[in-house]
Amino acid sequence: MESHLQTVLEAVRRAALLCETVADGLTGEDTARKEDRSPVTVADFGSQALIIHALRKAFPREAVVAEEDTRLLRKDDGLLKRVSEAVQSVDPSLSREDILTCIDGGDEPPDFHDVYWTLDPIDGTKGFLRGDQYAVALAKIDQGQVCLAVLACPRFSLNEKDTGTGSLAWAVRGKGAWIRSLTGKGANPLRVDSVKDPRNARFCESWERGHGTHEVHEGIAARLGISRPSLRMDSQAKYLAVARGDVSLYLRLARGKAYREKIWDHAAGALLVAEAGGRVTDFASRTLDFSQGRRLENHVGILVSNGHWHDVILDAVRAETGGSPAV
Ligand code: AMP
Ligand code: MG
Repeated sequence: MESHLQTVLEAVRRAALLCETVADGLTGEDTARKEDRSPVTVADFGSQALIIHALRKAFPREAVVAEEDTRLLRKDDGLLKRVSEAVQSVDPSLSREDILTCIDGGDEPPDFHDVYWTLDPIDGTKGFLRGDQYAVALAKIDQGQVCLAVLACPRFSLNEKDTGTGSLAWAVRGKGAWIRSLTGKGANPLRVDSVKDPRNARFCESWERGHGTHEVHEGIAARLGISRPSLRMDSQAKYLAVARGDVSLYLRLARGKAYREKIWDHAAGALLVAEAGGRVTDFASRTLDFSQGRRLENHVGILVSNGHWHDVILDAVRAETGGSPAV
């Protein structure tokens, strides 16, 4: 297990460093739009190629479900060239064809009830482009439950002394959660805060208004007596903020009623928080089930908390949303 963990920590770390290198020299040519109009960059593709390459080598029989595919790259030679250059600067042994094969390796439907990996090569691409938070998120799922999580947040300072190297966090089910500097060694345990009085609590939510219903979150916070302004942040860095005790809770109710959260947007973060002593459920108090496909089909609303008053928050959620939101 220990050597498997080292393999995935190193893969995610290398991918995160590739993302920062791309960010340093970012031009308009590094970014494209997907069919749903959301942005994707050379770094998203490069990160996915590197991580799937490492997973294929170490665990050839285990399926990977990842956010990106090669449809855009196969139509855009310039973009493919830039992706290849970025990946080859880290691993010169990979050809263009290898890179495409690796990226497409994240699009093979697994048995979602069995063992598989889920990857968001850049979670929060909008934050990445804005110069704000983003994450590289990898998790291993076994029978619908997350058993291993790795989350790199290259712009999430480890502490006040951190000179901007970012954070690498990981969790093993039943064993705990840890954090270290993205470029460092060692491991410090992650622990949620001990805040029990809502008046001392702070909550976080998506920076993007389209990804979370801020006015409902605000209503829930007001019912709880939380008066501090919310911390708005992109990506699963929010889960890390709860796991580390920067904030006591994270609220997420998607704006569209029909929207179902993607598994790769929550798997890694959910285990980090659970192993740091917190709790993660949907708005109807259900534990997240990762066995239903690429989306969390059975869940509406995500509540992440330090675990000390989760049920009290759920009561406020029910009152604010008029009962448990329909699935
Ligand atoms: P965040 O930075 O927490 O807002 O999360 C970024 C993720 O939000 C992306 O990886 C998308 O998969 C996801 N996303 C995209 N559209 C929506 C939506 N309408 N509602 C909720 N999440 C979304
Ligand atoms: Mg994402």
